Amino acid sequence: LIRLEGVTKRFGDNTVLDGLDLSVDAGRHVTLIGPSGSGKTTILRMLMTLTKPDEGTITVDGEHLFPAPEKRVREVRKKIGMVFQQFNLFPNMSVLRNITEAPVRVLGMPKDEAEARARELLDLVGLADKCDARPTRLSGGQQQRVAIARALAMRPRVLLLDEVTSALDPELVAGVLDLLRDIARSTDITMLCVTHEMGFARDISDQVLMFDSGRVIEAAPPEKIFSDPERERTREFLSAVL
Ligand code: ATP
Repeated sequence: LIRLEGVTKRFGDNTVLDGLDLSVDAGRHVTLIGPSGSGKTTILRMLMTLTKPDEGTITVDGEHLFPAPEKRVREVRKKIGMVFQQFNLFPNMSVLRNITEAPVRVLGMPKDEAEARARELLDLVGLADKCDARPTRLSGGQQQRVAIARALAMRPRVLLLDEVTSALDPELVAGVLDLLRDIARSTDITMLCVTHEMGFARDISDQVLMFDSGRVIEAAPPEKIFSDPERERTREFLSAVL
């Protein structure tokens, strides 16, 4: 479903991704791990078209996301939802409107249909009673649940999760991770996650990719990579974070 080929990304002299090849099949849950600065977030940002590669090709569902004409890119982008570390909710809109805004404006969904769907999603994330609240009145964990509902409202084929629990108070982390585990189990959505929560990565991933210096240095199912990694660099990284 997602394919990156020969993707290189530089910021000035800093080569963040270096001829990266990566593919994720439909319905799979893939987690990116690796040291800070190894380019994991940059990959998610490229899939969201928030930044462009310098070289290489990116396709999603057989269609080019890069290089591609702007109009096509907008269509392909609709298949991808993202949840950020810092929630990024619209502070001046109610929780309900945060969720209905994109389906109405981008997909042209009728407002009542978008609202009905938003209410179902708020129910799913355990916030049915918060429709009319402003996001700023919610806890970090609640805001992140709204952000997850907002991403799902677009019915994306792919959900990108970028360290979604790192800005949360420790006692709120488990609830958000449980919700994501449920979504992973009960939907056929393809997930690509960047996380430092190794327990979560172990639970939800079909495959874990270890990054170092802009390349995937090891790719394996979680039971293999966490208990018996092939590469010394992976072993070192895991012993520092586990
Ligand atoms: P972390 O776990 O800390 O988020 P990461 O593996 O996700 O790390 P990236 O956020 O992808 O790493 O960043 C990779 C490198 O690219 C870092 O060295 C970062 O400083 C650099 N970088 C990212 N965005 C920009 C930018 N807009 N301008 C300049 N440098 C950038």
